[in-house]
Amino acid sequence: MMETPLKIIKKYQIQPVKRLGQSFLVDNNITSRIVDALKSDKGDSVVEIGAGLGAMTAMIAPRVTKIVALEIDPKLVAVLTKELKDIPNVEIIHGDVLEYDFSAPAGGRARIKVIGNIPYNVSSQILFRLIEFRDHISSAVLMFQKEVVDRITAPSGTKEYGILSVIVSMYAKTERIMTVPATCFYPKPKVDSAVLKMEIREEPLYPLDNHDTFIKTVKTAFSKRRKTLANNLKDMFTARLKGMDVFALLDETGIDGRRRGETLTVEEFGKLSNAINRLR
Ligand code: SAM
Repeated sequence: MMETPLKIIKKYQIQPVKRLGQSFLVDNNITSRIVDALKSDKGDSVVEIGAGLGAMTAMIAPRVTKIVALEIDPKLVAVLTKELKDIPNVEIIHGDVLEYDFSAPAGGRARIKVIGNIPYNVSSQILFRLIEFRDHISSAVLMFQKEVVDRITAPSGTKEYGILSVIVSMYAKTERIMTVPATCFYPKPKVDSAVLKMEIREEPLYPLDNHDTFIKTVKTAFSKRRKTLANNLKDMFTARLKGMDVFALLDETGIDGRRRGETLTVEEFGKLSNAINRLR
């Protein structure tokens, strides 16, 4: 049995580093529910983002073939190495998740699962990285600041609906697993948290011609929230839209250019980005 996170913190006199989002989950019941939400099987390869003290890592290991514990802080890598030394199927990697190759653990053959109580300061970058590796990932269960989960799961037309909601929904089905109060962490963060499960779709929600154009279209549509869609597009795609009637282009997709980005559904964003992609 592994020691509790608080005991490990004391034993190694760990001083949590705020800059690295080090707020450790100290409630084992919550850790266990997060691990259950992954629904992992023998045969799975799992990557844990920000393994920290290894509590979650140790809980997952007996259920899967392989678990990669990714951690950026060398001091915690040393702790993980000592605390997890008797678990044979754990691979500890000292590295940055934003540079990690998620196709590596299964040698590019099978799709892996991802789990993590992630550093909140890089939540969006982590999401974008996972989406880049969507062909190699089947699902992810991640802890975010609660408001980020509200944004990811927001329906169109609401205040929270934005870049994250559209991009994540295009590629994944999402489900909020639970809300986690700040008191479950040490040190106690200022915000509450929530756990989100993402099942990566076999195909995007709308058949996209080009991923990069889709991402740029979505970012553009939300770049100035108070501007209309047509005006935001004109400002950003200046070269592509030169001499073009933006309203005509939008008409072609059945979207009124006077609408604002937040009113478009995910499918409409797909249609619009394909139309923009066809322009030279
Ligand atoms: N998994 C532990 C837990 O649940 O208590 C730690 C969670 S803590 C919120 C986030 C962890 O991610 C920290 O251990 C931190 O050092 C690590 N981390 C921060 N930035 C990282 C990065 N770019 N790549 C990998 N790990 C990172």
